[in-house]
Amino acid sequence: MNVLSCRALRKVFRGNVVLHDLDLEVAEHEVVVLIGASGSGKSTLLRCVNLLETVDDGTIHLDGEHITSPGVNPDRVRQRIGMVFQAFNLFPHLTVLDNVTLAPRRVHRQPRRDAEAAAMRLLDRVGLADKAREYPDRLSGGQQQRVAIVRALANSPRLILLDEVTSALDPELVGEVLSLIRELRADGTTMLIATHEMSFAREVADRVCFLDQGRILEQGTPQQVLGAPQQPRTQQFLERII
Ligand code: ADP
Ligand code: MG
Repeated sequence: MNVLSCRALRKVFRGNVVLHDLDLEVAEHEVVVLIGASGSGKSTLLRCVNLLETVDDGTIHLDGEHITSPGVNPDRVRQRIGMVFQAFNLFPHLTVLDNVTLAPRRVHRQPRRDAEAAAMRLLDRVGLADKAREYPDRLSGGQQQRVAIVRALANSPRLILLDEVTSALDPELVGEVLSLIRELRADGTTMLIATHEMSFAREVADRVCFLDQGRILEQGTPQQVLGAPQQPRTQQFLERII
């Protein structure tokens, strides 16, 4: 079964159609990468999936549950989705450990000891256990972004959404974040990723979707879409970006 299924999604901002009848499915353990020019609708799509935006038409199902139906509690849905944004959005006044355990403790009502033990295991896995008691501003951008990913994993989500998570990083810090995402993929984590890193897309994607003006204009394996694009607009985009 698909973890995510978007059907005929439509999103309009002030008369401007940002997502046009968009269909997208993500199967369990699949890694789908969204590429496309700035403004093509990648973030809006991810935000709609996480119910940070309401859709104007169409439906989204998560594990078969219709999550865009009226009456659905967005907080309950978001507990099953982990999202990481471009700018590190760790809480600056909380330690790394408290950032990671906040949702498990508050939302999932896990006892502090259990939440902290689980968080320490995750932090240890990404080599940041020694930073658990530090505040975010004592960490490099790459470390902060790895903590943000760990925090997104702390609820054992069904789906991880990553929105340009390396775009705000100094080039030398990009690699450590990409390696973490590579590891998640090896563990079978289901992910929907927006990125400008084409070589990374080529490496981790099971499927690449090229978004153009709110439509998926072309999709397929990385070899197909990045190696032999069929649509002139995909070709133009790739020529510009590489
Ligand atoms: P991408 O992530 O691919 O760069 P976005 O999803 O951020 O694209 O934006 C798609 C389009 O929607 C752009 O034209 C952008 O200006 C517009 N948009 C995004 N968010 C809003 C908003 N909150 N209000 C109005 N327009 C928006
Ligand atoms: Mg964006």
